Amino acid sequence: MLINPVMHRSKRAKFGRENLKLENVPLMKSLTKRVSDFLGTCMMVGAIAAGSAAVPSVLAETLPQQKEQAPGYFRMALGRFEVTALYDGSVDIDSSLLSGASKKTILSSLAQSFLSDSKAIQTAVNAYLVHTDKNLILIDTGTAKLFGPNLGFVSENLRAAGYEPAQIDTILLTHLHPDHAGGLLTPAGAMTFPNAQVFVSRADADYWLNETKAANAPKDQQALFKMSRDAVAPYLAAGKLTIFDVGQKILDGVTEIPASGHTPGHSAYLVSSEGQGLLVWGDIVHSLAVQFQYPEVAIEFDWNQEKAVATRRRILAFAASREIWVAGAHMPFPGIGHVRLNSATAYVWVPAEYHRLRDVR
Ligand SMILES: [Zn+2]
Repeated sequence: MLINPVMHRSKRAKFGRENLKLENVPLMKSLTKRVSDFLGTCMMVGAIAAGSAAVPSVLAETLPQQKEQAPGYFRMALGRFEVTALYDGSVDIDSSLLSGASKKTILSSLAQSFLSDSKAIQTAVNAYLVHTDKNLILIDTGTAKLFGPNLGFVSENLRAAGYEPAQIDTILLTHLHPDHAGGLLTPAGAMTFPNAQVFVSRADADYWLNETKAANAPKDQQALFKMSRDAVAPYLAAGKLTIFDVGQKILDGVTEIPASGHTPGHSAYLVSSEGQGLLVWGDIVHSLAVQFQYPEVAIEFDWNQEKAVATRRRILAFAASREIWVAGAHMPFPGIGHVRLNSATAYVWVPAEYHRLRDVR
């Protein structure tokens, strides 16, 4: 902290005059002395700070900076359950992919969140682990190395969080896009989670795993179809792929909430324990800066933008009215927080705060 001695000289002079006027008031005498002592200390600190520029900094010269970030996981309790957010990495998204409001409105929303580079908005990819005491459930699996070196860290962060991929018995996919299903495979193409049963909705399986639909899709989307098919192939061959009909209980404490629009069978999962709820909502929101204020804004990746907008409005209203926790695959990590209705149509995100679990010593 470098303090400007000139400023403090003027402050001391001002306080000095006040002292003269109030010199017979004991409280003011004491207060004035404390202020004077404080300013004297400030002057000393200022002098030390000013002089320190000339002192060679032996430590900084010999110590390399520690470039590694803290491990990418965040833990919270949900009733009797333990929830762990796992960071897969981040991808930069161009705001031109957003539509449904004017460019001016979108840029102004981004600017309000101090996002000045509208062509490269950092967007997290998150997965969520739920330990229910009966099951170890992973909701989405990240991207693996399908989209470059800044993604694909779910397994690494799972291990940092104290678990092994082989310990996971259940995988719930919100949908079959490669940033959610890609992590099912190791770089060598083997099952990352050899002991897990993988669950996906019938509408998503019927769409993404259908070879005729893939062949008829626009050329630029055919790679996505192949990535989805490849990701589940070994699980399908091993009888470890369960295709479910929407809106049903999947396991004790986990119910699927239909959220079609981003993909045909896009699913949210409501995790409940002892009266507490967490809605793991997948891709309901891709841009916190824009889509909370303007839920009518869609993203180019949406399979059906009109449906995606209607679903976003429904799910935001659901989360806000129930005052439950939310976990979002593309919300800023850890992507866990609450949704509050801010006006008739706009919402605010209230993120979870870092904390230690209370029963842990
Ligand atoms: Zn996604």
